Amino acid sequence: VADTIATDNVVESACPYCGVGCLVNYHVKDNKIVKVTGRDGPSNYSRLCVKGRFGFDYIDHEHRLTQPMMRKKGSAKDPTMVDFDPANPLAHFEPVSWETALDAAANGLKQAYAEKGGDGIAGFGSAKCSNEEAYLFQKLLRAGLKTNHVDHCSRLCHAASVVALLEGIGSGAVSNQVDDIARTDVAIIIGSNTTGNHPVAATFMRQAQANGTKLIVIDPRQIDLMRHADYAVQFAPDTDVALMNAMIYTIIEEGLTDDEFIRTRTENFDAIKANIVDYAPEKMAPICGVDAETIREIARVYASAENAMIFWGMGITQHTHGTDNARCIIALALITGQVGRPGAGLHPLRGQNNVQGTSDMGVLPMYYPDYQRIDSAESRQKFEAAWQTDLNPETGLMMADIFDSIENDGITAMYIMGENPAMSDPDLTHARKILAKLQHLVVQDIFFTETAYFADVILPASAFAEKTGTFTNTDRRVQLGRKAVNAPQGTRQDLWIINEIAQRIGLEKSYDDAESVFAEMRTVMPSHAGITWDSLESIGSVTYPKRAEDQPSEPVIFRDKFPTANGLGKLVPAVFARAKELPDADYPFVLMTGRQLEHWHTGTMTRRSEVLDHIEPLPPIQMNEHDIERLGLTAGQRVEIASRRGMITANLRLDNSLRNGEIFMSFGYYEAAANMLTNNVIDPAAKIPEFKFCAVTVRAANEQ
Ligand code: SF4
Repeated sequence: VADTIATDNVVESACPYCGVGCLVNYHVKDNKIVKVTGRDGPSNYSRLCVKGRFGFDYIDHEHRLTQPMMRKKGSAKDPTMVDFDPANPLAHFEPVSWETALDAAANGLKQAYAEKGGDGIAGFGSAKCSNEEAYLFQKLLRAGLKTNHVDHCSRLCHAASVVALLEGIGSGAVSNQVDDIARTDVAIIIGSNTTGNHPVAATFMRQAQANGTKLIVIDPRQIDLMRHADYAVQFAPDTDVALMNAMIYTIIEEGLTDDEFIRTRTENFDAIKANIVDYAPEKMAPICGVDAETIREIARVYASAENAMIFWGMGITQHTHGTDNARCIIALALITGQVGRPGAGLHPLRGQNNVQGTSDMGVLPMYYPDYQRIDSAESRQKFEAAWQTDLNPETGLMMADIFDSIENDGITAMYIMGENPAMSDPDLTHARKILAKLQHLVVQDIFFTETAYFADVILPASAFAEKTGTFTNTDRRVQLGRKAVNAPQGTRQDLWIINEIAQRIGLEKSYDDAESVFAEMRTVMPSHAGITWDSLESIGSVTYPKRAEDQPSEPVIFRDKFPTANGLGKLVPAVFARAKELPDADYPFVLMTGRQLEHWHTGTMTRRSEVLDHIEPLPPIQMNEHDIERLGLTAGQRVEIASRRGMITANLRLDNSLRNGEIFMSFGYYEAAANMLTNNVIDPAAKIPEFKFCAVTVRAANEQ
């Protein structure tokens, strides 16, 4: 039936959801997308998952914001959000002209600057916006408002990977691309429900396994990919360091290390050797819930492979020991020499469609674009010369520290573009209280989000298919997303909005379009210097690093050395530590949060996509049969789930992929926000919250 739909034209673009970055064709009729098909290209070879294929009609949803708004005089910011209605912003806001809204947005930021300088201002960019929008956003904050308090949702997903990778091997991006799995003999997939969260990447994994690659799938849940695994290892949540240190122990004890690689390419191996003496598999087995021989066997299979890769997701990172988890992954690769060749490497599966690019563009408190350090005088002088202004030499605050600063009367004004911390942060009762405290909050978005509820000025922006820009997928592929339809009357393109605010706070340089921003980006980002707009137009997907137009892209990096100060990979030992809140008599279950195949993050897009919301319309609390029976509950009934921080009500779903005592919830439902329950404790290095582990209790709902 889809093939018979008449269309006016077909626009080549990319999927707006996950980091796989599938290339798509938007089929357009009367300024509406009527269907989406996969496009042949290196990210997906025409494949699409249900989100990419059917999750496009949110852009026509009646909830689209189509007029700038300002908070009504006297309208309080209620942290309980008791009257939040995503369909009705006018209860608290009044429509104003673009001129009035932009003046108010800029004046509030300028006033905060006049009172406290850059220290009083922060910004959250968006991993769903383009590279050009991300670049301009951080430039506005750094050059215009002299603050490095700029961050984005990478802090909530792969911050721990980036910290460990930069520390260990000098680069936070993947060493090898997803399709390299076809060239690998063994692949470990750990802490990644790839079938649900990076569905098309999972097809590459399954295909490789069918062609002879051994898959070792390690996860606390019996995830779908385990059906295709040679080794399916279900382990106790929170025991990643114990498990991987036991693997390292086996590799060293059984003489499976790559000694030449360790000697010539790494440092600090002695510290790893000293650290693992207490991690014999036989000792770790009862902690991890995996028998010792299985631990030894998967260690042998990985270490002995000619080429092996490790893929991981947020099961690794979203812990107070997330950085230590990632350090163990890096150590496994370095001591076995499984990096730096086709089919041998490390791949943190990046979450959002442009979380890689937004990080590359410097929407991070410690880096200018291309990971050039804020605390390097040389980098600062380079950007001062490029942007023709003085810059703040102090590294900025990370997301959690920004919230602390607001709470302690430091930061008073924020500009949030396309992020929704009032849904995505842990312990929402606390997070919403803090957002309500801001004296000036500018929110730029396409819907009236939970965060927009706390805004002073709301700027209606444009959706993915309504604008052109580049997006960088998990593989380091810079890809062009093209405008397919006109945005609704009253909205504006994000680039235009940032540009207008920048002009109002005194930045002189103006940009006509994404291409002109990209031209500037190339001049300050050595890894992108060789990528031309023309090549993106013609090829559609170009891998960085590409350091000059006449040099090739580098799909596999770290071949000869690591981009560290001495060129060596640094082995960093990790010590096993438990989560900060363990189950007890009052809260006897472990809650893990994550995503579902059909819904995306805080649900602002997918909950408004008809097909996707029809498949998964209600928030489920997932629990296994044993626990449901033990509590005298029935699958399908309404239940209350509570932690020390809050309580929500949702429907109970039978899910035997979980072990006894464990519960899983998606965090994308505003009517039962799982982050009301999660624990606001963070990894000390990456400042990433512990979304994957907190203690909860469950009982039948007491509803009328
Ligand atoms: Fe979109 Fe990711 Fe699905 Fe591809 S796998 S269609 S990028 S959501």
